[in-house]
Amino acid sequence: MPNTQQSENLQLREQLALLIEQARRNEDILRRHQEFDLTFIGASGFRELIESIFAALSAPSELDVVTLAMLDSRYEIRRILQDLNIDLSEFPNLLFFQDADELGALKDLMRPALGPFDQTGNGVLFPSPVTQPASVALVPLWRHNGLIGLLGLGSLDDSRFTVSMGTDFLEHMASIVAICLENVINIERLKHLGLMDMLTGVSNRRYVEQRLTEEIVRTRRRAGDLSCLYIDIDFFKQINDRYGHQCGDEVLREVATRVKAELRLSDTLGRFGGEEFVVLLPETQLSDACNVAERIRAGIANHPFVLGQETLQVSASIGVAVIDLALPDQSIELLGQRMLAEADQALYCAKKAGRNRVRAISQA
Ligand code: GH3
Ligand code: MG
Ligand code: MG
Repeated sequence: MPNTQQSENLQLREQLALLIEQARRNEDILRRHQEFDLTFIGASGFRELIESIFAALSAPSELDVVTLAMLDSRYEIRRILQDLNIDLSEFPNLLFFQDADELGALKDLMRPALGPFDQTGNGVLFPSPVTQPASVALVPLWRHNGLIGLLGLGSLDDSRFTVSMGTDFLEHMASIVAICLENVINIERLKHLGLMDMLTGVSNRRYVEQRLTEEIVRTRRRAGDLSCLYIDIDFFKQINDRYGHQCGDEVLREVATRVKAELRLSDTLGRFGGEEFVVLLPETQLSDACNVAERIRAGIANHPFVLGQETLQVSASIGVAVIDLALPDQSIELLGQRMLAEADQALYCAKKAGRNRVRAISQA
């Protein structure tokens, strides 16, 4: 019956059109996800991140007001911003709260909440002179089970955010923003405390020594392993002599980047001085630490360093050691010093054996 067939065809075509439309919408969502991620992850400092959060969220999403509230109980973030010469009056939509209780019920918000603006419930996120919206999305930023802040997205259109809308995109965006915020704050914190090596951007000796103590305490408690690497660039003096000090500085930065690329987030990398770096590897036994060291060695030696016009062959020698918790009556400081001294000794062996190699000193 042609009529039935025609209507079936029509139905199928409608279904297909619907599916294509849905696929297109999903593609659009994915593309937006990626664009957001890249904007935030690419931000190198606090100011850039804050600016990109406000810019990326306002215009493309056609929002009338975006606020970012940060919990800053010890006034630490604001002090850091002050040190960075960031004038907070430039960012009237950046809000600080001393205490989560000031946020009222918002402090317990686990997922984004959408709906009409309500002065009593969410007015704290849109204080005067910030524009008062008609509908809002309240997006909590969580890290490690703690609320670090909230994003307030507002529109003058009361149907822009409604209770029934999906929040997948907002949740994803919130997790990226939270991680990026935590990262830039941590980096600024390290600079602030003088625990960062300004040339390479990795930690400095003081920070590694502090971390070493903490890691030994943790390793003892768990009866686990803790290894360390002592890395020294080979013939670095020649690099300076031949290509100049500035080129030497570039090599130091590039070595730091390549070492970092082989490490986990829980590892600690610090510049110990001159052309020497130390890495702490928690939960890592000697053989695994040697594998990491070998990867680092290869990562430096196997690819030439391209610095402006110059192409250089660089290599490093690495000494590896593991903590020996079986030593009787040793203080934490002595245990740490001993491990570092052993790694340094292993490094010396690597140099003597011809450089560009990894050597370990075992517990035995
Ligand atoms: P080896 O293979 O035995 O390690 O030889 P080397 O030349 O790397 O070792 P040496 O300790 O003789 O030289 C280290 C050089 O590092 C000497 C010093 O001028 C240079 N140096 C130390 N700090 C910096 C820095 O911040 N920037 C630059 N460009 N050079 C530095
Ligand atoms: Mg040296
Ligand atoms: Mg050297």
